[in-house]
Amino acid sequence: MTVTKDQILGWLKACAAEFAAQQDYLTDLDREIGDADHGLNMNRGFTKVMEKLPTFEAQPIGGIMKGVGMTLMSSIGGASGPLYGTFFIRAATSTASAEELDLAALIKMLEDGVAGVVMRGKAEHGDKTMCDVWWPVLQAAKEAKDAGSDITAALDKMVAAAEEGAKSTIPMQARKGRASYLGERSVGHQDAGATSSLIMIKALAATVSGS
Ligand code: ADP
Ligand code: MG
Repeated sequence: MTVTKDQILGWLKACAAEFAAQQDYLTDLDREIGDADHGLNMNRGFTKVMEKLPTFEAQPIGGIMKGVGMTLMSSIGGASGPLYGTFFIRAATSTASAEELDLAALIKMLEDGVAGVVMRGKAEHGDKTMCDVWWPVLQAAKEAKDAGSDITAALDKMVAAAEEGAKSTIPMQARKGRASYLGERSVGHQDAGATSSLIMIKALAATVSGS
């Protein structure tokens, strides 16, 4: 079983639909410890991705990832634009000519993306960022692969890890980004970027399982 290029395109469309539907929720999270624009940013970015998609959707998965990254980079202001932009641009490296991804290739793609976010944002574990979702997701993915799971089962584990990861940001004190200016007052709120990452992982799992 693999994740096909069509499923990757379906995933991006599902992300766009979710960010449109959950714009206010994400913005409310960012209002608590940020500047109330994260939902707006993600919706704007993925609306632009949908506009631009026809110009790069014929390419292999890497070309699509790169197109998404460049689009997000240029259309989202704020911290999340360069971070998610870098995520997708780096995710293009190992998938350059791929038309489908097996579980190992999917993990590699996400791992490269997360490494890009870390290179750019220098987040560490427990800093209350999107990485506190991506790290446990990668961990769960690798454990599932080592246990011989198929992609659907691995994605279920990845969603569970993402949900836990997003929740785990609530008691954390922010040490990166705008929320870090609040010091101890950032404790007690779920991180907006961790939540948008959760939404993306859920959208991937739902697209691949066909639900
Ligand atoms: P801004 O903070 O510029 O308003 P957004 O509101 O769109 O940008 O995005 C905020 C999110 O970006 C945070 O919730 C956090 O998850 C993520 N973030 C901020 N700084 C970093 C960083 N250095 N590394 C990883 N993620 C970060
Ligand atoms: Mg913000």
